[in-house]
Amino acid sequence: MKAVCWWGKGKVRVVDVPDPKILNPRDAIVRVTLTAICGSDLHLYDGYVPTMMKGDILGHEFMGEVVEVGSEVKNLRAGDRVIVPFPIACGGCFFCKEKMWAACDNTNPNAWMVEALMGFSGAGMYGYSHMYGGYAGGQAEYVRVPFADVNPTKIENGIPDEKVVFLTDILPTGYMAAENCGIQPGDTVAVWGCGPVGQFAILSSWMLGAARVIAIDRVPERLRLAQRDGRTEILNYEEAGDVFEALKELTGGRGPDRCIDAVGMEGHGHTVDAVLDRVKQAMKLTFDRAHSLRQAIHCCRKGGTVSIPGVYAGFIDKVPFGTAFGKGLTLKMGQTHVHNYTRMLLEKIERGELDPSYIITHRVRLDDAPQMYETFRDKENDCIKVVMNPAA
Ligand SMILES: [Zn+2]
Ligand SMILES: [Zn+2]
Repeated sequence: MKAVCWWGKGKVRVVDVPDPKILNPRDAIVRVTLTAICGSDLHLYDGYVPTMMKGDILGHEFMGEVVEVGSEVKNLRAGDRVIVPFPIACGGCFFCKEKMWAACDNTNPNAWMVEALMGFSGAGMYGYSHMYGGYAGGQAEYVRVPFADVNPTKIENGIPDEKVVFLTDILPTGYMAAENCGIQPGDTVAVWGCGPVGQFAILSSWMLGAARVIAIDRVPERLRLAQRDGRTEILNYEEAGDVFEALKELTGGRGPDRCIDAVGMEGHGHTVDAVLDRVKQAMKLTFDRAHSLRQAIHCCRKGGTVSIPGVYAGFIDKVPFGTAFGKGLTLKMGQTHVHNYTRMLLEKIERGELDPSYIITHRVRLDDAPQMYETFRDKENDCIKVVMNPAA
């Protein structure tokens, strides 16, 4: 089969590889009908995630048709259409029973690698390095799905792939980010980063009852997309100058009640700490460029909440912890427990209340992946979200 493989820093290739096989009686093999490139795939592309190996198949946002199931899979069969959440959960461990699927204790066979770095391991993930399990990803014609009776959700009607594929990661991620804010009636929510997760955090903030949502980015197309609902306010930080002052002005001097950092470790910024971060990251002294997080903590009103869906790994410094303490902020963060949101969000899509496909800017074939990774990274051609159809 054809698959999109990591080939070193800044290199992706489409390669012919062996078809995946059932390795465990609880596996299923899925023929991928639609897959997407995620912002967090860029962390791999840019070489920030250790333990990637040349030839690793990328991709953790995918859906398709079940073509084969192992002998112990009970609730799926060949022909079923499924979406597959990016964290692989076993369904039986302490964390899975607590519905903290992304913290599953059983699905990362290489847990020791992450433990060595961070002291713990969460769930294994598709196409996300060997330290997260070394699972082949879904940017391919076929993919092996472990614990197939726990993870996939069946799509039982004719809803197009494009409307449901983002249930695998970024839609629940944006939703959980907003949910973690604990939005109260009358709240103003500020969202740093208007990439796909930021867009869905904005959408979800409205769903959860925000009175105002302010979107912060520097890319005009992203800000325009955020504004399409006719009610989200925007702040272009390259034009606004001082985001702290601008937000204060917009909120009567108080600061936003809830702040979402949907930027994560590839944040850009022009102040001194941002420049220092780039130097340090180049020297491998720090993993993260946490400018947006620092700013969110700095801007959030006293007693507010900072929610962090953006992916952080490793250590970050110069976090204004004293400010967070002094203001009595609540910080909530973490990998998305996708499974908890699938059904509820799917029902909204089925009822026509929600159509997440509006963020798609590029529809391509697997063969286009090398070019598309570059385009997506450089935000060229107004690129916000890329989907790939392996059958095209
Ligand atoms: Zn993703
Ligand atoms: Zn588990």
